[in-house]
Amino acid sequence: MEKKTEDVIMPVNWYDALPRRQYESFIRVESADPWFSVYQFRSNIYAIYEDKHFQEVISYLIIGEKKGLLIDTGLGIGDIRAVVNNLYDGEVFVTHTHTHFDHIGGDWQFDKVFIPDDPVAVNRARWGLSKQEVEDNMAEGCNCQPYPRGFNREEYCIKPANRYSLIRQGDVFDLGGISLEVIETPGHSPDSVMYLDRENQILFTGDSFYPATLYAHITHNDGSNSDFETYRRSMHMVAEKYSNCTLITSHNEPLRPGIELIKVAQAFDSIAEGSSEYITDSRGLKKYVFEDFCIVTS
Ligand SMILES: [Zn+2]
Repeated sequence: MEKKTEDVIMPVNWYDALPRRQYESFIRVESADPWFSVYQFRSNIYAIYEDKHFQEVISYLIIGEKKGLLIDTGLGIGDIRAVVNNLYDGEVFVTHTHTHFDHIGGDWQFDKVFIPDDPVAVNRARWGLSKQEVEDNMAEGCNCQPYPRGFNREEYCIKPANRYSLIRQGDVFDLGGISLEVIETPGHSPDSVMYLDRENQILFTGDSFYPATLYAHITHNDGSNSDFETYRRSMHMVAEKYSNCTLITSHNEPLRPGIELIKVAQAFDSIAEGSSEYITDSRGLKKYVFEDFCIVTS
């Protein structure tokens, strides 16, 4: 049966779900820029959460004995560098789960960033994204609290990175006492990767999995497109290898059990087999609703 809705991407009154319950169990710490809410969990991991914008993107700072690692730089609305500097005064590597706009917005603030070895990622590091490419995210209703003073919504764009280096499958960030390994998981975008802490069995899933609507439908003129079958294969791979891990996701709420990877892989199968119901929106996108997440396809 086919049901219709206006827009399957931005939920109506998205802010009604805030504040999300899981954050009650974390330690809230001072944020150098109030645009970000900062939470500490597992003593050496900070969630830098943009809960005033409907994307609810989360960047992470992981602190080792020798170095720090910032995974993603958020929307580029607030001053993420100030937040990071306030949390840790050592050297910080800056890397990415992928190069969609909401994960690279603060790249320009850092001397150098690591990006996945993919032409799309290289393009975005070099050129950023224009106002026209990101203006949808500045529409009325996208934010639930005022933007920071000095931020001009009319001029919002994604600035290029200063310098970049490429990361590939198996590369390791050694922070001293904690190591994060790159696991390539294309599908949501061609350059999607996850970060695995093997010793502590933690997997940073980026946008390939989070407890909300997963995007398997994205098309962009620079080639940063989703690919359903590739996404499905990547989720089967991680479900098989890493379902014993704790998942740390990039939107809405950080923590999820690894078993969810198996559920996502099964959900992709059921969509491929045509055995799941969906709703469509005015653009023709299809949204499949599962217990803990949804999947949107074109
Ligand atoms: Zn995202």
